[in-house]
Amino acid sequence: MSDTILKAEGLTKEFRGFVAVKDVNLAIRRGSIHGLIGPNGAGKTTCFNLLTKFLIPTRGTITYDGRDITSLKPAEVARLGLVRSFQISAVFPHLTVLENVKLALQRQRGGSFDFWRSDSVLREYDTRARELLADVALTEYERVQAGQLPYGRKRALEIATTLALDPVMMLLDEPTAGMTHEDVDRIVALVKRVSAGRTVLLVEHNLKVVEGLCDEITVLARGEVLAQGNYATVSRNPDVQAAYLGT
Ligand code: ADP
Repeated sequence: MSDTILKAEGLTKEFRGFVAVKDVNLAIRRGSIHGLIGPNGAGKTTCFNLLTKFLIPTRGTITYDGRDITSLKPAEVARLGLVRSFQISAVFPHLTVLENVKLALQRQRGGSFDFWRSDSVLREYDTRARELLADVALTEYERVQAGQLPYGRKRALEIATTLALDPVMMLLDEPTAGMTHEDVDRIVALVKRVSAGRTVLLVEHNLKVVEGLCDEITVLARGEVLAQGNYATVSRNPDVQAAYLGT
């Protein structure tokens, strides 16, 4: 088995002539937490959308687990275990926290909203959903309507619904965006916990989060890779310092 689980080669995305991502080469090591960072407008979100197949590259290839996935659709790569976090908008606000996770499990295993499962299968969903809620420290909120959750806990629910899809590799888009310090610390601990036995790609603006979590970091600026390496290496890089100060 190759050490690299996800590889991008020459990844390029143009929007009507504007090059948002240019010739990006990326190799993500199996089992690592890899950070994709960069100042605003660097191309992080575009890269994330390319890797999860929500955008089609203008040029370049993406290989996942030795397989060329460049032309696959998001649902197809999700079935291969490459799963991006659901956005909060994908959480059903009028259902409880527990119901949301059960629904994510049903969709994973049944492929559709299927309320006609046997009792034993429904009990299995219930047990697994409670395990997932315990993993993300949401047990005490299980009967709360998802729409009523505090913001930081909603992001934790989003991670639980992602875990319901049984990912081999998880891609998280700014899981700490807009959070208080306390919530940031909680999400960092949570990502650390749920990353065990998985690979994680984290798009992040907050350097403290990256420092605490990531084994390897790719820094983007103006659509190109500026530096790669561990936090100590990239944070000392003068080009990286200039790119951050320039924002
Ligand atoms: P980041 O996530 O690092 O802030 P983005 O990937 O969102 O950066 O954006 C990179 C650049 O590409 C920005 O200049 C942005 O305006 C541009 N861009 C992103 N998406 C589109 C689009 N759909 N159409 C045109 N330009 C876009």
